[in-house]
Amino acid sequence: MSIRRDPSGRLNIESPFMGESMMDKSLLASTDGGPIYRLMPDLIVVKVGGQSIIDRGREALFPILDELVEARKTHKILITTGGGTRARHAYAIAIDLGMPTGVLAKLGTSISEQNALMVAILLSQRGGIKIGHDDLAKLPNYMMPGILPVTHAMPPYGLFERPPALGRIPPHRTDVGAFLLAEVMGAERCVLIKDEQGLYTADPKKDASAKFISEIEVNELLALDLNDLAIERTMLESLKTARSVREVFIVNGLVQNNIPRALDGENVGTRIYVKA
Ligand code: ADP
Ligand code: MG
Repeated sequence: MSIRRDPSGRLNIESPFMGESMMDKSLLASTDGGPIYRLMPDLIVVKVGGQSIIDRGREALFPILDELVEARKTHKILITTGGGTRARHAYAIAIDLGMPTGVLAKLGTSISEQNALMVAILLSQRGGIKIGHDDLAKLPNYMMPGILPVTHAMPPYGLFERPPALGRIPPHRTDVGAFLLAEVMGAERCVLIKDEQGLYTADPKKDASAKFISEIEVNELLALDLNDLAIERTMLESLKTARSVREVFIVNGLVQNNIPRALDGENVGTRIYVKA
Protein backbone atom coordinates (compact mmCIF):
# COMPACT_ATOMS: atom_id res chain seq x y z
CA MET A 1 0.00 0.00 0.00
CA SER A 2 1.39 3.37 -0.93
CA ILE A 3 0.51 6.95 -0.24
CA ARG A 4 0.18 9.27 -3.21
CA ARG A 5 -0.32 13.00 -3.50
CA ASP A 6 -2.94 13.91 -6.14
CA PRO A 7 -2.68 17.04 -8.35
CA SER A 8 -4.86 19.01 -5.90
CA GLY A 9 -2.36 18.34 -3.13
CA ARG A 10 -4.39 15.76 -1.15
CA LEU A 11 -2.62 12.72 0.21
CA ASN A 12 -4.40 9.50 -0.79
CA ILE A 13 -3.95 5.92 0.31
CA GLU A 14 -3.96 3.76 -2.79
CA SER A 15 -7.24 1.83 -3.13
CA PRO A 16 -10.04 1.46 -5.70
CA PHE A 17 -11.86 4.35 -3.96
CA MET A 18 -8.89 6.66 -3.72
CA GLY A 19 -9.99 10.29 -4.04
CA GLU A 20 -13.62 9.34 -4.80
CA SER A 21 -16.67 11.06 -3.35
CA MET A 22 -18.25 7.55 -3.22
CA MET A 23 -21.21 8.95 -5.16
CA ASP A 24 -20.15 8.27 -8.75
CA LYS A 25 -22.74 5.85 -10.18
CA SER A 26 -20.41 3.70 -12.23
CA LEU A 27 -18.01 3.43 -9.29
CA LEU A 28 -20.90 2.36 -7.02
CA ALA A 29 -22.05 -0.23 -9.59
CA SER A 30 -18.53 -1.67 -9.76
CA THR A 31 -18.63 -2.53 -6.03
CA ASP A 32 -21.29 -5.21 -6.50
CA GLY A 33 -19.04 -7.78 -8.11
CA GLY A 34 -18.07 -10.49 -5.69
CA PRO A 35 -20.19 -12.90 -3.68
CA ILE A 36 -21.57 -11.82 -0.31
CA TYR A 37 -20.27 -13.85 2.61
CA ARG A 38 -23.22 -15.45 4.33
CA LEU A 39 -22.40 -15.74 8.00
CA MET A 40 -25.27 -18.13 8.75
CA PRO A 41 -26.97 -19.43 5.60
CA ASP A 42 -28.99 -21.93 7.64
CA LEU A 43 -30.36 -19.33 10.06
CA ILE A 44 -34.06 -18.49 10.21
CA VAL A 45 -34.91 -15.11 11.72
CA VAL A 46 -38.32 -15.25 13.34
CA LYS A 47 -40.26 -12.21 14.47
CA VAL A 48 -42.94 -12.69 17.09
CA GLY A 49 -45.47 -9.94 16.44
CA GLY A 50 -45.99 -7.40 19.22
CA GLN A 51 -49.59 -6.37 18.63
CA SER A 52 -50.55 -9.56 16.84
CA ILE A 53 -49.10 -12.09 19.30
CA ILE A 54 -47.32 -10.84 22.46
CA ASP A 55 -50.11 -8.44 23.45
CA ARG A 56 -52.57 -11.34 23.34
CA GLY A 57 -50.81 -12.70 26.41
CA ARG A 58 -49.98 -16.20 27.54
CA GLU A 59 -52.76 -17.96 25.66
CA ALA A 60 -51.28 -16.91 22.33
CA LEU A 61 -47.61 -16.64 23.23
CA PHE A 62 -46.91 -19.77 25.30
CA PRO A 63 -47.85 -22.34 22.61
CA ILE A 64 -45.73 -20.39 20.09
CA LEU A 65 -42.73 -20.44 22.43
CA ASP A 66 -43.25 -24.20 22.91
CA GLU A 67 -43.18 -24.69 19.13
CA LEU A 68 -40.03 -22.57 18.79
CA VAL A 69 -38.24 -24.51 21.56
CA GLU A 70 -39.12 -27.78 19.85
CA ALA A 71 -38.11 -26.49 16.41
CA ARG A 72 -34.78 -25.27 17.78
CA LYS A 73 -33.72 -28.94 18.04
CA THR A 74 -33.60 -29.13 14.24
CA HIS A 75 -33.23 -25.50 13.12
CA LYS A 76 -31.04 -22.51 13.87
CA ILE A 77 -33.47 -19.83 14.99
CA LEU A 78 -33.03 -16.24 16.11
CA ILE A 79 -36.14 -14.96 17.86
CA THR A 80 -36.89 -11.26 17.51
CA THR A 81 -39.75 -9.29 19.01
CA GLY A 82 -42.10 -6.56 17.86
CA GLY A 83 -43.40 -3.67 19.94
CA GLY A 84 -47.19 -3.65 19.73
CA THR A 85 -49.83 -1.78 21.67
CA ARG A 86 -47.47 0.00 24.06
CA ALA A 87 -45.45 1.33 21.11
CA ARG A 88 -48.68 2.62 19.54
CA HIS A 89 -49.60 4.34 22.81
CA ALA A 90 -46.14 5.94 23.08
CA TYR A 91 -46.34 7.10 19.44
CA ALA A 92 -49.76 8.68 20.03
CA ILE A 93 -48.55 10.62 23.08
CA ALA A 94 -45.29 11.63 21.39
CA ILE A 95 -47.15 12.92 18.31
CA ASP A 96 -49.50 14.90 20.53
CA LEU A 97 -46.47 16.42 22.25
CA GLY A 98 -44.95 17.36 18.90
CA MET A 99 -42.03 14.91 18.97
CA PRO A 100 -40.15 14.30 15.70
CA THR A 101 -39.98 10.86 14.07
CA GLY A 102 -36.52 10.09 15.49
CA VAL A 103 -37.84 10.40 19.03
CA LEU A 104 -40.74 8.09 18.19
CA ALA A 105 -38.26 5.55 16.83
CA LYS A 106 -36.29 5.70 20.09
CA LEU A 107 -39.48 5.05 22.08
CA GLY A 108 -40.45 2.13 19.82
CA THR A 109 -37.02 0.58 20.33
CA SER A 110 -37.39 0.42 24.12
CA ILE A 111 -40.75 -1.27 23.82
CA SER A 112 -39.55 -3.88 21.35
CA GLU A 113 -36.66 -4.48 23.78
CA GLN A 114 -39.03 -4.88 26.74
CA ASN A 115 -40.78 -7.63 24.81
CA ALA A 116 -37.45 -9.31 24.00
CA LEU A 117 -36.59 -9.32 27.71
CA MET A 118 -39.90 -10.91 28.67
CA VAL A 119 -39.69 -13.55 25.93
CA ALA A 120 -36.09 -14.36 26.89
CA ILE A 121 -37.07 -14.71 30.54
CA LEU A 122 -39.97 -17.00 29.63
CA LEU A 123 -37.50 -19.14 27.67
CA SER A 124 -34.61 -18.93 30.10
CA GLN A 125 -35.09 -22.46 31.49
CA ARG A 126 -35.14 -23.78 27.93
CA GLY A 127 -32.13 -22.03 26.39
CA GLY A 128 -33.48 -18.51 25.98
CA ILE A 129 -30.83 -15.78 26.21
CA LYS A 130 -31.50 -12.10 25.57
CA ILE A 131 -28.81 -10.69 23.34
CA GLY A 132 -28.22 -7.11 22.21
CA HIS A 133 -27.57 -5.99 18.66
CA ASP A 134 -23.87 -5.73 19.48
CA ASP A 135 -23.87 -9.49 20.11
CA LEU A 136 -25.11 -10.41 16.65
CA ALA A 137 -21.64 -10.97 15.26
CA LYS A 138 -21.33 -13.70 17.90
CA LEU A 139 -24.52 -15.38 16.75
CA PRO A 140 -22.84 -18.52 15.34
CA ASN A 141 -21.42 -19.08 18.84
CA TYR A 142 -24.81 -18.58 20.42
CA MET A 143 -26.02 -21.43 18.24
CA MET A 144 -24.53 -23.99 20.58
CA PRO A 145 -26.99 -26.85 21.07
CA GLY A 146 -30.06 -25.74 22.97
CA ILE A 147 -29.38 -22.01 23.05
CA LEU A 148 -32.23 -19.87 21.79
CA PRO A 149 -31.13 -16.23 21.37
CA VAL A 150 -33.73 -13.47 21.59
CA THR A 151 -33.28 -9.86 20.53
CA HIS A 152 -35.47 -6.86 19.70
CA ALA A 153 -36.44 -6.37 16.08
CA MET A 154 -36.52 -2.56 15.99
CA PRO A 155 -33.58 -1.44 13.82
CA PRO A 156 -31.15 0.89 15.59
CA TYR A 157 -31.81 4.07 13.60
CA GLY A 158 -33.26 5.68 16.72
CA LEU A 159 -32.92 9.45 16.66
CA PHE A 160 -31.51 9.19 13.13
CA GLU A 161 -34.71 7.63 11.74
CA ARG A 162 -35.69 9.22 8.44
CA PRO A 163 -38.95 11.20 8.53
CA PRO A 164 -41.44 9.36 6.30
CA ALA A 165 -43.13 10.85 3.23
CA LEU A 166 -46.51 10.43 4.92
CA GLY A 167 -47.13 11.26 8.56
CA ARG A 168 -44.68 10.89 11.42
CA ILE A 169 -44.62 7.18 12.39
CA PRO A 170 -41.09 5.70 12.05
CA PRO A 171 -41.08 3.91 8.68
CA HIS A 172 -38.48 1.34 9.82
CA ARG A 173 -40.00 -0.74 12.56
CA THR A 174 -39.79 -4.35 13.56
CA ASP A 175 -40.76 -6.15 10.31
CA VAL A 176 -37.98 -4.45 8.37
CA GLY A 177 -35.67 -4.79 11.40
CA ALA A 178 -36.13 -8.57 11.48
CA PHE A 179 -35.67 -8.67 7.72
CA LEU A 180 -32.47 -6.59 7.70
CA LEU A 181 -31.10 -8.75 10.47
CA ALA A 182 -31.73 -11.85 8.35
CA GLU A 183 -30.06 -10.15 5.40
CA VAL A 184 -26.88 -9.16 7.23
CA MET A 185 -26.57 -12.65 8.71
CA GLY A 186 -27.02 -14.14 5.23
CA ALA A 187 -29.93 -16.14 6.65
CA GLU A 188 -32.13 -18.57 4.78
CA ARG A 189 -35.33 -16.62 5.34
CA CYS A 190 -37.30 -14.39 7.64
CA VAL A 191 -40.56 -15.64 9.18
CA LEU A 192 -43.03 -13.11 10.56
CA ILE A 193 -45.43 -14.62 13.07
CA LYS A 194 -48.72 -12.71 13.12
CA ASP A 195 -52.41 -13.33 13.78
CA GLU A 196 -53.88 -13.65 10.28
CA GLN A 197 -53.34 -16.34 7.66
CA GLY A 198 -51.06 -13.96 5.77
CA LEU A 199 -51.40 -11.04 3.41
CA TYR A 200 -54.74 -10.00 1.92
CA THR A 201 -55.74 -7.28 -0.52
CA ALA A 202 -57.01 -5.32 2.52
CA ASP A 203 -57.03 -5.69 6.30
CA PRO A 204 -59.20 -8.80 6.84
CA LYS A 205 -60.20 -7.43 10.26
CA LYS A 206 -61.85 -4.44 8.59
CA ASP A 207 -62.87 -5.70 5.14
CA ALA A 208 -64.69 -9.04 4.82
CA SER A 209 -64.21 -9.01 1.03
CA ALA A 210 -60.38 -8.89 1.30
CA LYS A 211 -58.78 -11.54 -0.93
CA PHE A 212 -56.00 -13.77 0.37
CA ILE A 213 -52.61 -13.63 -1.36
CA SER A 214 -50.69 -16.88 -0.96
CA GLU A 215 -47.58 -15.92 -2.88
CA ILE A 216 -46.44 -12.73 -4.59
CA GLU A 217 -43.29 -11.26 -6.08
CA VAL A 218 -42.19 -8.17 -4.16
CA ASN A 219 -42.23 -5.77 -7.15
CA GLU A 220 -45.74 -6.96 -8.06
CA LEU A 221 -46.86 -6.38 -4.48
CA LEU A 222 -45.40 -2.87 -4.42
CA ALA A 223 -47.08 -2.15 -7.77
CA LEU A 224 -50.48 -3.07 -6.25
CA ASP A 225 -49.95 -0.11 -3.90
CA LEU A 226 -52.37 -1.60 -1.34
CA ASN A 227 -53.85 0.91 1.06
CA ASP A 228 -53.05 -1.22 4.12
CA LEU A 229 -50.49 -3.96 4.64
CA ALA A 230 -49.59 -6.56 7.27
CA ILE A 231 -45.91 -5.71 6.82
CA GLU A 232 -43.98 -2.44 6.62
CA ARG A 233 -43.44 -1.02 3.16
CA THR A 234 -39.78 -0.46 4.02
CA MET A 235 -39.46 -4.23 4.42
CA LEU A 236 -40.66 -4.70 0.86
CA GLU A 237 -38.21 -2.05 -0.37
CA SER A 238 -35.42 -3.82 1.51
CA LEU A 239 -36.33 -7.22 0.07
CA LYS A 240 -36.11 -5.68 -3.42
CA THR A 241 -32.44 -4.81 -2.98
CA ALA A 242 -31.39 -7.65 -0.64
CA ARG A 243 -28.40 -9.70 -1.75
CA SER A 244 -28.87 -12.84 0.37
CA VAL A 245 -32.44 -13.32 1.60
CA ARG A 246 -34.89 -14.08 -1.22
CA GLU A 247 -38.16 -14.64 0.64
CA VAL A 248 -40.23 -13.72 3.66
CA PHE A 249 -43.02 -15.84 5.10
CA ILE A 250 -45.99 -14.42 6.98
CA VAL A 251 -47.62 -17.10 9.15
CA ASN A 252 -50.53 -17.24 11.51
CA GLY A 253 -48.92 -18.30 14.78
CA LEU A 254 -52.31 -18.81 16.39
CA VAL A 255 -52.82 -21.94 14.27
CA GLN A 256 -51.06 -24.90 15.80
CA ASN A 257 -48.24 -26.44 13.78
CA ASN A 258 -47.96 -23.52 11.32
CA ILE A 259 -44.62 -22.43 12.77
CA PRO A 260 -42.79 -25.79 12.50
CA ARG A 261 -44.08 -26.16 8.96
CA ALA A 262 -42.88 -22.68 8.01
CA LEU A 263 -39.50 -23.36 9.59
CA ASP A 264 -39.30 -26.49 7.43
CA GLY A 265 -39.70 -24.23 4.38
CA GLU A 266 -43.40 -24.77 3.69
CA ASN A 267 -45.53 -21.75 2.79
CA VAL A 268 -48.45 -22.04 5.20
CA GLY A 269 -49.44 -18.38 4.87
CA THR A 270 -48.03 -15.80 2.47
CA ARG A 271 -44.69 -16.03 0.72
CA ILE A 272 -43.26 -12.73 -0.55
CA TYR A 273 -40.26 -13.35 -2.75
CA VAL A 274 -37.86 -11.56 -5.03
CA LYS A 275 -37.11 -12.92 -8.51
CA ALA A 276 -33.75 -14.71 -8.59
P1 ADP B 1 -47.17 -7.21 14.30
O1 ADP B 1 -47.78 -7.34 15.65
O2 ADP B 1 -46.54 -8.46 13.81
O3 ADP B 1 -46.30 -6.02 14.11
P2 ADP B 1 -49.30 -5.76 13.02
O4 ADP B 1 -50.45 -5.77 13.95
O5 ADP B 1 -48.48 -4.53 12.93
O6 ADP B 1 -48.41 -7.04 13.31
O7 ADP B 1 -49.76 -6.13 11.54
C1 ADP B 1 -50.55 -7.26 11.33
C2 ADP B 1 -51.99 -6.84 11.17
O8 ADP B 1 -52.11 -6.06 10.00
C3 ADP B 1 -52.96 -7.97 10.96
O9 ADP B 1 -53.39 -8.47 12.18
C4 ADP B 1 -54.08 -7.32 10.15
O10 ADP B 1 -55.19 -7.00 10.93
C5 ADP B 1 -53.47 -6.03 9.65
N1 ADP B 1 -53.50 -5.83 8.19
C6 ADP B 1 -53.57 -4.61 7.60
N2 ADP B 1 -53.55 -4.73 6.28
C7 ADP B 1 -53.48 -6.05 6.01
C8 ADP B 1 -53.40 -6.80 4.79
N3 ADP B 1 -53.40 -6.21 3.58
N4 ADP B 1 -53.32 -8.15 4.89
C9 ADP B 1 -53.31 -8.76 6.07
N5 ADP B 1 -53.37 -8.11 7.26
C10 ADP B 1 -53.44 -6.75 7.23
MG1 MG C 1 -46.40 -4.19 13.00
